[in-house]
Amino acid sequence: MSLNRLLWTAGIVILSLIFTACGNNGSPDLILHNGTIITMDENRPEVGAVAVLDDRIVAVGNAENILAMAGSATTVIDLEGRFVSPGFIEGHAHFTGVGVLRMQLDLLGIESWQEIVAMVEQAVAEAEDGDLILGRGWHQNDWTIEPERMVGDLPHHEQLSAVSPNNPVILTHASGHMRFANAYAMEMAGVDNDTENPRGGEIVRDETGAAAGAFRQRASDLLQSVGRSWSPDLAQVMRNANEESLRYGITTFGDAGTSVSLIEQMIEVHQSNPLSVRLHLMVRSSNENLRDGLPRIAGKIENDPYFTVSGIKKAIDGALGTHGAWMVDPYTDRPETSGFNTTPLEEIYEAGELSLEHNLQMAVHAIGDRGNRETMDLYEAIWEAHDVDGTALRWRIEHAQNLHPDDIPRLSELGLIASMQGVHATSDGPWVPQRIGEERSRQSAYVWRSLLDEGTIIINGTDAPVERLDPLPSFYGSVTREMRNGEQFFPEQSMSRVEALRSFTIDGAYGIFREHDLGSIEVGKLADFTIFDRNLLTVSDDELRDAKVTHTIVGGRVVYTSDDE
Ligand SMILES: [Zn+2]
Repeated sequence: MSLNRLLWTAGIVILSLIFTACGNNGSPDLILHNGTIITMDENRPEVGAVAVLDDRIVAVGNAENILAMAGSATTVIDLEGRFVSPGFIEGHAHFTGVGVLRMQLDLLGIESWQEIVAMVEQAVAEAEDGDLILGRGWHQNDWTIEPERMVGDLPHHEQLSAVSPNNPVILTHASGHMRFANAYAMEMAGVDNDTENPRGGEIVRDETGAAAGAFRQRASDLLQSVGRSWSPDLAQVMRNANEESLRYGITTFGDAGTSVSLIEQMIEVHQSNPLSVRLHLMVRSSNENLRDGLPRIAGKIENDPYFTVSGIKKAIDGALGTHGAWMVDPYTDRPETSGFNTTPLEEIYEAGELSLEHNLQMAVHAIGDRGNRETMDLYEAIWEAHDVDGTALRWRIEHAQNLHPDDIPRLSELGLIASMQGVHATSDGPWVPQRIGEERSRQSAYVWRSLLDEGTIIINGTDAPVERLDPLPSFYGSVTREMRNGEQFFPEQSMSRVEALRSFTIDGAYGIFREHDLGSIEVGKLADFTIFDRNLLTVSDDELRDAKVTHTIVGGRVVYTSDDE
């Protein structure tokens, strides 16, 4: 397949050269000039202008020469000093999750429970009695004032239920690992004082033993019957996610896990309403469904530059916040536990074999240092058993959040991709040392400097909708390690600006086997560009924080222009 792609790309290059040579017909469709155009091509890091024909880059060079190629049908964009980067590649986020978020109350970053209650009150006023009200993205750590009534560090449902007496309300936590319900929703779900905690979950209870509103982990499944009355239109969900991507300058979206059946539905939608962001999906299903579904999905996506099923995803552990990350040594703040393994290792091993069989990239979510170590051991065991050179396979570790110092060099030795999210370090930073102590945080948490120094390829992302899909906070966090409180989380692990840009462009492309046609501004590559209002490589940290995307170009088409333009 990769040889095919190579030949195909070579063909396009030759074709483009012929077109360029024959004048009138071959004049470019689009020329960008008069800005800072950073190519991420080491041989030619910056150019004065770039020309596009159809969906490919046909020329780069100094502005005078490129402008001379313009014909009567050429659109010439004067960048007026703006900054052009190869199109940004989101390494790990959740496409339908992003789309669904736009159909719910968006609670990301809301600074108090009182404000959330007011948003629900407003939604109730606009809804019919009985309509389900959904929201997502709240996080108690974001709140600057305390809720009036609390249970532990969480609110009691009382206030929320008072403003929504005739509507079920379900509000999902930013992490996705907890849901919050009002009294009406809990009644619909049949939850009362006698309802027992399901395995792997907890109904948070007040001092009287009554459910207080929050449902942790698996307990939130109890609310599923309430949610069933809501089935959003998939075409709308995908349209939303597509728009959201382009708005934030994302030209390629790496989706970190969608089921076989949902991917099949998405392919159908895409065939009638084509996406304009390039979507790369990892399949996340039971091994049985993978075995059954992979041959079907793989056949459908061949050679579509906008829809690719590129990998298989499994999770070896949970999250650090909930003490679910699988650690080598016990947690500092809960010494009785070292976290746990969430998917049986045999299941992950089998999925790795399926990856080999179907020529897909294997990806494992691993947060704790034990989870990361076990993932690497497992990869090695699979390669050995099948006698393959795994180092060429670019298998991935999603998050790679805590790495034991002994394991840091192993990623580059094994040729693994570290799929990390800059913004996680700065969002989680304030409480990481509480979980695992100062020393382990320093040595093992989000150690991207150490990884880069070992030669590991890091790809960046946001994990949206856990965080907003905006890549700039991740870019900013990657280079400053500055947390919301203004302090830095072990700044010695920062990336340089260029490294951060690589992680979103050329390295992002390498992370999905697309470096032959994405990730840099070179003749023959797809014409994907993200244009910013300022130079991401040279402005001060303060100015970087306020950078904005002004245009997004995918396949030579301007698919987003900001309102201020
Ligand atoms: Zn994720």
